[in-house]
Amino acid sequence: MSAAPLLPDATAASAAIELRGVDIHFGDGKTAVRAVSELDLDVAPGQFVSVLGPSGCGKSTLIGAIAGFTPLSAGELRVDGRPVSAPGPDRGVVFQHHTLFPWKTVRSNVEFGLKMRGAGARERRETALGMLDSVGLADFANHYPWQLSGGMQQRVSLARVLVNRPRVTLMDEPFCALDAQTRLSMQELLLALWHEFHITVVFVTHDVDEAIFLSDRIVVLSERPGRVKADLTVDLPRPRTRDLLTSIEFMRLKREALALLFDGPEPGGLGYRGRTGASSGRTLDLQSVVS
Ligand code: ADP
Ligand code: MG
Repeated sequence: MSAAPLLPDATAASAAIELRGVDIHFGDGKTAVRAVSELDLDVAPGQFVSVLGPSGCGKSTLIGAIAGFTPLSAGELRVDGRPVSAPGPDRGVVFQHHTLFPWKTVRSNVEFGLKMRGAGARERRETALGMLDSVGLADFANHYPWQLSGGMQQRVSLARVLVNRPRVTLMDEPFCALDAQTRLSMQELLLALWHEFHITVVFVTHDVDEAIFLSDRIVVLSERPGRVKADLTVDLPRPRTRDLLTSIEFMRLKREALALLFDGPEPGGLGYRGRTGASSGRTLDLQSVVS
């Protein structure tokens, strides 16, 4: 009799995510904060969805809720039809700053999830080395995280999540601390991995170009408490290449996304008070208002 495989194979179906009327509050009384309110969101299996919105509007809270770290105050949240009540290996998270164990080698970091699930030493080693090859770090398996550049550390973070074959990968501004060139390489790598591993991705960013380049859809959240203010379909062909970044279609979508970000129902909102003080919003420095 053959045992069930420890890990689902790489072509296993990706998961659907459903949020219905989600409220998330922190604290009580005078210090209570409503981070997210009446949030409805559907993400189809295998879809790549980016989330944009002003600083403090609840983007990280949303990621924490889907990951199962942050309990809901009201509403429903299901992954593959099952209510989320705790973290699980079906949902991996990559944060802005890596959370790798500094005392473990790159390979041991990637093996960690497999070890927790009871994989034997040989299977762990082979699976981890295969994943490190996929993220271009085969030669760095025996290094320690602190010996790597920021981009390489994020590659290891991705490998550590993907080695568990999650059905959902949640990413909270994972490339925002990287320089522009490294960031573009990471975006290309992420698209290749997304294609290879058939994952559903929810990706928080404050970078409109990054959101368009990567996504099938961009969900724009309102000021806190966050709720969906706009949902933009990115109808650009795949595979996406660097040439796309300067194409007319890309610029058209960027214009649309910026209009949705700045021309919301909050005319007194930050989007209108950027450096230029202009009311058109078109020449504002996005970085200064959205993070
Ligand atoms: P974003 O990621 O969009 O910048 P967050 O989701 O981190 O925003 O935070 C949304 C709001 O919830 C903020 O006002 C923040 O201060 C508050 N908040 C987030 N996490 C907690 C927490 N654990 N306890 C109290 N308040 C929190
Ligand atoms: Mg955040």
